[in-house]
Amino acid sequence: MAEKILLEIVTPERKVLSETVDIVMAPGELGEFGVLPGHIPFLCKLKVGELRYRVGAASRHIAVMGGYAEVLNNQVTILAAAAEAEIEIDVIRARAARERAERRIAEARDKLEFTRAQAALQRAIARLRVAERQ
Ligand code: ATP
Repeated sequence: MAEKILLEIVTPERKVLSETVDIVMAPGELGEFGVLPGHIPFLCKLKVGELRYRVGAASRHIAVMGGYAEVLNNQVTILAAAAEAEIEIDVIRARAARERAERRIAEARDKLEFTRAQAALQRAIARLRVAERQ
């Protein structure tokens, strides 16, 4: 049997996923990276974005709100502030969050407000990208 990867995605609130997969593509802070079985041990920071993985012919997508990825012994562990699979994402909530964030960016009075609003916008965009994928 071909080697596989155990993908685990955990947040402070819950275990989002624990699944045996063929390949993982994760949004690393320095760019997207791929993990196949036999990958060397590796630890990196993630940015807010889309994590993809494949099981056979099926491709699946998870919105990941930053965090860390560890690759060790054919296991990929993602520790994220929040993460949702495509079917878990409330699109109406994410659209509202995007509109709110855009408004806050336009009305920001200082750098902190601007930075926070920008982070909220990135989270909403990541969720919508995963949920509204064609
Ligand atoms: P909002 O302003 O809508 O709360 P947010 O980006 O501030 O969005 P987070 O702080 O990233 O939300 O997440 C808080 C919790 O809500 C987490 O458990 C996260 O998984 C969940 N969550 C946030 N947005 C959505 C969404 N659109 N669909 C499903 N779960 C969501």
